[in-house]
Amino acid sequence: MIEDNYRSVLQRVHQAAKRAGRNPEEVTLIAVSKTKPLSDIERLIKIGVTEFGENKPQELKEKYDTVSTPVHFHQIGHLQTNKVKYVIDRAVLIHSVDSMHLAEVIEKEAEKHGVTAQVLIEVNAAEEDTKFGVSLGEAKALVKEVNAFPHVQVRGLMTIAPFVENPEENRAVFRNMHELLLDIKSENIDNSIDILSMGMTNDFEVAIEEGATMVRVGTAIFGERDYSI
Ligand SMILES: *Cc1c(COP(=O)(O)O)cnc(C)c1O
Repeated sequence: MIEDNYRSVLQRVHQAAKRAGRNPEEVTLIAVSKTKPLSDIERLIKIGVTEFGENKPQELKEKYDTVSTPVHFHQIGHLQTNKVKYVIDRAVLIHSVDSMHLAEVIEKEAEKHGVTAQVLIEVNAAEEDTKFGVSLGEAKALVKEVNAFPHVQVRGLMTIAPFVENPEENRAVFRNMHELLLDIKSENIDNSIDILSMGMTNDFEVAIEEGATMVRVGTAIFGERDYSI
């Protein structure tokens, strides 16, 4: 069931890439396993899945430390500075850097652990009050400042688009993000800035058509989440 869901989402990812004239290999599907048991992750590992997304640092730590086979965990949710320690040498990529203060703490922890943290800058592209992230206009400056840290490498941008009924409503948001990434790349700040993390269950195909290189899909793979338990 979860396995079939994963395969059908992956197929939709490939089809969306092809529709846009892109190489499907350019798009990484992250299975968002937040709130779901380790047994669900293990089932996907058995069919070769290696990329998982978690929201909460402690949950990422726990799953990373107990999973049977080493796989990649992405920190996709908001990261508080006092929780950086849980993910610094566990998360393959931190998608949610939204302030210099957080970046400073990541730098300190990364240095302490002898690693270079791979991060994305989170952009609140639709300027929603309820969302974390910097504005489209502020993003480039933050990319430059954060990338100047010796133990932090900015790899690209991330956004959580608004919840909409019709995914077409988010097309302009995704397009703006892609343009921002191209603008940043054109300045040659760092050749390794090439990741665009955007698109979730409701809108990942539109995100891919507009240039996403990572999509974060939970519900379509694992089913609805139950936050009451
Ligand atoms: C939960 C979550 C997702 C996945 O959402 P679905 O709609 O279940 O696919 C993606 N990104 C972030 C940051 C999330 O918190």
